[in-house]
Formats: sequence, C-alpha cells, structure tokens
Amino acid sequence: MTPHGIITDEWIVSYASGALSEAHALVVASHCHYHPELQQKVLDAEAIGGGLMENTQPAEISDDLFEDLMSKLDGVPANDEPALQDSKLPAPLAEYLDKPLDELKWKMMGPGLSQVRLWTGPNDERLWLLRAKGGAKVPAHDHNGLEMTLVLQGSYRVGEAQFTPGLMEIADDDTRNHCPEIDHGEDCICLVVTEAPIKIHSLIGRLVQPFIGL
Ligand code: ZN
Repeated sequence: MTPHGIITDEWIVSYASGALSEAHALVVASHCHYHPELQQKVLDAEAIGGGLMENTQPAEISDDLFEDLMSKLDGVPANDEPALQDSKLPAPLAEYLDKPLDELKWKMMGPGLSQVRLWTGPNDERLWLLRAKGGAKVPAHDHNGLEMTLVLQGSYRVGEAQFTPGLMEIADDDTRNHCPEIDHGEDCICLVVTEAPIKIHSLIGRLVQPFIGL
C-alpha cells in the first residue's frame, strides 16, 4: 500500500517514460525531490525504459537529445534547491519558475487565498500555485478529472488527513465536496495541477518535452 501523501508506482513509471504532460511531470518531479526513495524508483524505471528504447528507438529522437534527457534526470535528485524568499522550493520547480515567488503575478481568488497560473495545456489542463493564509478554507468543490496538490510550505487538512511539505494529495471525480482547511500559522503554498478528462498523454514524441521544456 502506498504511504499517505506519496504517489503510486504507476505515476513513477509514467513520469520516467515521459508519458506525463508538462504540468504533471513538473509536479511529480518536485514531489520526488522530497523523497530519495522515489528518486531511486525514477532512476530504476528510467534504466528499464532506456533498455526498451534501444530496441524501439524512434527515429526523431537524436542521441544528443537522449543524453540531455538522461543528464536532466540525473539532476532530479540534487538537493541544492535555492532558497527563495521564506520558502525552499524543490529544484525542478525553482528552475521552472526562474524567479522568486513574490515576483509572480498573484491574483486574489477568495478570502486569504491567492493563486498564480503557471501554465495552461491542451484540454484545459492547468498548473498553478496556491497561496493560502493560515486558517483559511478552500471553498468546497468537486472535480472534473484529476487534481494533484503538492505542499511546498505550511500544511492543510482534509478531514483527518494532514498534508505537509513534500506530501501530495490526489483528488478525482470521486472526491466529493473537497474542502481543504489550512492549518493555523504560516502561509500554505501548494503546487497544483488540475485537468480536464484526459489524464495521461502517451505520445512518444513527448518523451523529452517535460524535462527540457521544448
Ligand atoms: Zn480539490
């Protein structure tokens, strides 16, 4: 059984194979940054995938590109995340943002809640950051498709379950009346990806895209 707040092996394999969208890949990479055992799983899955690719190497992927991908993967476990403002962002996210949190375009989305949209993909997939004051409540909601939430700072609860930095919450169509409550204290900052019905993109041509931002 997968521990509380940790993604399943299916996600690891999808990530390692490049089957995830840019947003999902970034959230998974950032999540893995907090957990050395997940980083090892990614490397293992990648090694297996690399072996498979030697037999079915698509023509459009050059050796250079593949090596670049591998070096990027090697970079995932690095623990040298830059300290931005008062928070420590996982390296993949810090690299993606390329600027301090306070310089992003935060927009109010409710009492004590603000957000900044980072990316909008096909099928209306959205990657965004949520910043919530301690004690704030996210309005109850249902979902169209998957919602992945990675805690970067602070913490929140959904019923009995508490989510702290590095833990991931996955909600879906079956998660009714989702109503996260921010713990009192510091602001809670989360990286969130929400999507429309299509969950996983499995185009071989996107193998490298999530990692090198093509
Ligand atoms: Zn939700």
